[in-house]
Amino acid sequence: MTCEACQAAIDNPASGRVNAACPDCKARSLAKSPAWADARAANAMTPGYRSALRAAFDKDWREGHEKVKHWDAVLKGQG
Ligand SMILES: [Zn+2]
Repeated sequence: MTCEACQAAIDNPASGRVNAACPDCKARSLAKSPAWADARAANAMTPGYRSALRAAFDKDWREGHEKVKHWDAVLKGQG
């Protein structure tokens, strides 16, 4: 399930468009964030990344984390 901004990002990963109401857009923003870069580099759920997930997805943060990993791959051209 994607919105127009998600489709723009799939067509052009450099696209900075974000739809604030879209969970995938929130995940995509997180996938570009320093918090995720830190967590990815540490291969761990860092406190900063977890709080960012909770801020974006509340109780659905685990699902959000899966979306972040998905978008990380898409943005790197592996999705
Ligand atoms: Zn979206």
